[in-house]
Amino acid sequence: MMNFKNIIWLLFFGTGVITAGAQNLCPIEWVNQIAQFEDTTPIAFVRTVQPGLPYSTTNPVYFRSQLQTDALANVFRHDPRDPSFVEVVLPGLIGDGTRLEGTYVRAGSERLDGFFEAASSADGADFRFLPDTTVALPCNTVISECSRFDAVNAYYHVDQFARKFWVEQLGVNIDFQVDVKVHVGGDGAFATAPENVLKFRLGDIFMKNAALSDDIIYHEYAHLVAARLGFFPTSIQSDQTRALSEGYADYFTATYTNDPQIGEWVVTCPDRQNCVGPANDKELRSLVLDSDIWNWKFGFPSSDLEYGFCLRYHTGDGKCKASYNNFANRYVWGMIWSAAWWDLRIQLGPQIVDQLALKAVQNHTLETDFTDAVEHILWADQVFFSGQYNAVIRDTFRSRGFVLPLVQALDTPAEIPAFNFSIWPNPTSHTVEVKFDTQTTSTLTIAWYDLLGREIKNQKITPDHIGTQQVTLSTESLPSGVYMLTMEVGNKRESRQLTVIR
Ligand SMILES: [Zn+2]
Repeated sequence: MMNFKNIIWLLFFGTGVITAGAQNLCPIEWVNQIAQFEDTTPIAFVRTVQPGLPYSTTNPVYFRSQLQTDALANVFRHDPRDPSFVEVVLPGLIGDGTRLEGTYVRAGSERLDGFFEAASSADGADFRFLPDTTVALPCNTVISECSRFDAVNAYYHVDQFARKFWVEQLGVNIDFQVDVKVHVGGDGAFATAPENVLKFRLGDIFMKNAALSDDIIYHEYAHLVAARLGFFPTSIQSDQTRALSEGYADYFTATYTNDPQIGEWVVTCPDRQNCVGPANDKELRSLVLDSDIWNWKFGFPSSDLEYGFCLRYHTGDGKCKASYNNFANRYVWGMIWSAAWWDLRIQLGPQIVDQLALKAVQNHTLETDFTDAVEHILWADQVFFSGQYNAVIRDTFRSRGFVLPLVQALDTPAEIPAFNFSIWPNPTSHTVEVKFDTQTTSTLTIAWYDLLGREIKNQKITPDHIGTQQVTLSTESLPSGVYMLTMEVGNKRESRQLTVIR
């Protein structure tokens, strides 16, 4: 009986079709390293978390009442592209500070410390080890090649992210301790809940040591916090629900680092030698993406979405290896989702948008799809910000092709007949006249919905005067059917039903 786990994999490799260019000096082999865990069925781990109940066996009250010691440590502020490592303080290690264990995290090397032990200090409360940024692979076979710096670096970033972002900025009660393991074989990283384990891999054919990359560490930890908030989809959930999970993990990472690029150091591919081909991608994922391409298209996104091209020479068999990091739905759709959040952050700023994201996640369930999720954002705006960002949220997510709910939420106020809005002829076949009154010259939105609540068309009108307006709208592109025309400005909206006959 296999021990199935709920695992969210950060990184997979995919198969692809290659037409080797004539100028290639050696044949390119496309590599498929999709992890075997993908095919497991973690039925035994279906669970629902009850918010408010700690699911860690760790009792934080116990820890917080014990003797704690601050320790010195060397870490990279971001990753090994920094000019050098820096000396920092690890606050509140449990006991005398000689073991890498605190309130939020316990960290160690799977190779040096075993599966359950925290790493030991150099001397007293001192974790100032020197980094080794040469290829980390020998640590797989030669234990003396494993750097003690790595577990300290992972510890520091989880601890700081928990304290500064989740607790101080967002006000989340982090009442669990995560077990971090570094020096795990392979490429990438993953999170396991409810066990609260993060594993960072040494890097293999396409990647570097994930324990040295701050954003990879934050991404994985964000999954565990989301799990604690009740949202941790696994392989039995739909691709949309899993894409939400990946999208949030990237968004929370990027908003904390204030950098929409994820994993730039980790995916810097090893030496190509004589391999010739397209340029390598410079990041694992990005939240700044072309909205024409990275678009949900109301449920019909492009099937060509993929990211993270890497080509390298493999000394083992003398072949060039090529792969996209990923084209799995949950990752490429997740990028559309995180890109929409980044669009919103540019408009409203991180303080508002981080809270909206947090409140939305808290409402998600394992059945939530994109449309439900947009509804949860609008709900969060209504409850926590009096609905003042409703129009911006709707515009932003509509621009990424997400379907907006017609009925936003139970708490949404009834429509306000603010426009004295009339339409004719009705039914119509080619055009419709719209007449309305305005008290301002603010831009109005006229949105068209079908009876399933899908927004299918949207127009902006900026009145040139206050008072009665009349515009002619085309219905040429619409199939026969019944539509709702909704006029809105700010949080005022008013709807009329229109029948189109062909
Ligand atoms: Zn992930």
